[in-house]
Amino acid sequence: MVLRHLSSMAMEQKQFQAESKRLMDMMIHSIYTHKEIFLRELISNASDAIDKLYFRSLTDDSVGMNKSDFQITLAVDKDARTLTITDNGIGMTKEELEQHLGTIADSGSLQFKNENNLSDDSQIIGQFGVGFYSAFMVAKRVTVKSLAFGEAQAYVWQSEGVEGYTIDTCDKDTVGTEITLELLDDVEPDENGNGGENYSEFLDQYRLQSLVKRYSDYIRFPIKMDMTRSRKKEDSDEYEDYTETVTLNSMVPLWHKNKNEISEEEYNSFYKDKCADYTDPLCHMHVHNEGTITYDALLYVPSHAPFNYYSKDYEKGLQLYANGVLIMDRCEDLLPDYFSFVKGLVDSEDLSLNISREMLQHDAQLRQIARSIERTIKNELKRMMKNDREKYEKFYQAFGLQLKYGIYQDYGMHKDLLQDLLLFPSSKDGKLTSLQEYIDRMPEGQDKIYYAAGESIQRIELLPQTEQVKDKGYEILYFTENVDEFAARMMQSYQDKPFQSVLDSKLDLESEEEKKALEEKQESSKEMLEAIQKALDGKVGSVKLSGRLKSHPVCLSSEGELSMEMAKTLNAMPGGEGEKIKANTVLELNPDHPIYQKLMTLSTEDTDKLDDYAKLLYDQALLIAGMPIEDPVAFSNRICSLM
Ligand code: ADP
Ligand code: MG
Repeated sequence: MVLRHLSSMAMEQKQFQAESKRLMDMMIHSIYTHKEIFLRELISNASDAIDKLYFRSLTDDSVGMNKSDFQITLAVDKDARTLTITDNGIGMTKEELEQHLGTIADSGSLQFKNENNLSDDSQIIGQFGVGFYSAFMVAKRVTVKSLAFGEAQAYVWQSEGVEGYTIDTCDKDTVGTEITLELLDDVEPDENGNGGENYSEFLDQYRLQSLVKRYSDYIRFPIKMDMTRSRKKEDSDEYEDYTETVTLNSMVPLWHKNKNEISEEEYNSFYKDKCADYTDPLCHMHVHNEGTITYDALLYVPSHAPFNYYSKDYEKGLQLYANGVLIMDRCEDLLPDYFSFVKGLVDSEDLSLNISREMLQHDAQLRQIARSIERTIKNELKRMMKNDREKYEKFYQAFGLQLKYGIYQDYGMHKDLLQDLLLFPSSKDGKLTSLQEYIDRMPEGQDKIYYAAGESIQRIELLPQTEQVKDKGYEILYFTENVDEFAARMMQSYQDKPFQSVLDSKLDLESEEEKKALEEKQESSKEMLEAIQKALDGKVGSVKLSGRLKSHPVCLSSEGELSMEMAKTLNAMPGGEGEKIKANTVLELNPDHPIYQKLMTLSTEDTDKLDDYAKLLYDQALLIAGMPIEDPVAFSNRICSLM
């Protein structure tokens, strides 16, 4: 006793990494209602560890284990109030105990909490697969004994929570890990029956049995527990207790089961466990494919984008199993970038077990599976769009941007696959519309898909150029995201209807007479227009009279491949600090506006003033287009002098 005390005194108490500490603190004090998920987390870790050693055993005889030798056991000691979870998986070295249990791999979680002002800790707990730490929701002390495969010395890691942990050598003969939880004391509810906590339930064998059935049934290695049963004694009416070792789980991987045997809850629970998400997925796809290549796949679309989804930190991929053996945790080649949000797994008996990462890239079978999966995902999304629009829009809110990038990527190679999945807000009612729906609504005589790009729907609606199009009864798609216009340029057309920016100077919606009248007016205003262009000193490509302006005196449009919004986007991109890219802009003047007459007069009577007016009009046009003006002071001075 004394010796033990001394040795623990000598043993250094180590601190958790600051972030882990905070996370653990949150966990312990959280109001998380599903404390029981700790069991799922620990079993899932045990199963992962066995996966690793089993995989190894296939190529390394020194493991000396057969598949049937692997198992997870649960054991309770009611007097000591402990629950022990043991596995004979790969184990952890001293360094691994430090690294994996002393730090949180995904340090983005707290940053995410701060950035998003999340107050509900339970959301964090679920989202980041803080798996192991969940033990502290139910335990006052956690002891992890582990002997790693290939090591001679076992180590024990112990912690009572945020204060830190200790690591020491220990005795353990068999490879694997044994985790003992000393459960917290039960808390009596107050007089109103609130605030009670029951931890003793995790000492109850039937409760444990039902938890395993509920959350961990599909684990492919047996989860065993000694259960106390009662039986009638022979030749007597008395009963006696006896112990029976039972396997708690069916061990059938979920994806091998028949679809109609799996409940929605099982699908969802599996997702939450495997993919470390706290919310149910939007949908699942369960594929049993037979044909040139045989595989099963279980795929999910999350209901929200992971916090790092649109950053380079996000890693796509599906788990890859070869005939039930996990060979890769994240196989990127199974998912194209535009469907990188999909989570899940693929299991194929046609893949060879000892295939390496490098070989996989060139593996024809894998590519075939990837193509087939791509079709499955697309069809599922299309079906959702058609049958459950609300759900689809939720999906689109989260991942629509990725689809648009997908269209732009690879020189538009995937546009045929993706274009039917797009939605844009439309001038019709502000709601999201698909391109097909847009086309179906097109009135007689409309032969283009009109769009306007801008910062927001409100801003776009204020653009002078939209007036004429709407007056014609044509609907406008609002492109509010940077990538939208690039994607449209890549598609060029949808069902032979070309995309047309209403901010383009060549909109061409006037009748022949209107055009002719405009041309004549343009001719007679030539000098004035040239004077304005000269005054603007290269800021605009040309100055024209426009037939499309109604109430507004001017607008700025562009000509050619590159629109102003596109130039803005390109210039804002990293690396775009150098020479600015410029769209070929056109200053359009409204010949029916009183200002036109004024300009005509000035062009013969007061060219200095025309100069000032030109600059003022240009600045106004910039403001209307949502662009910054170059010299706000000069602008304001000019206005004042006019006033
Ligand atoms: P995750 O499982 O998502 O990686 P956890 O917090 O659940 O996160 O576990 C952290 C790490 O600790 C695991 O990745 C693994 O390396 C290690 N670990 C946990 N439990 C075990 C175990 N029973 N056997 C071997 N390693 C384990
Ligand atoms: Mg885990």
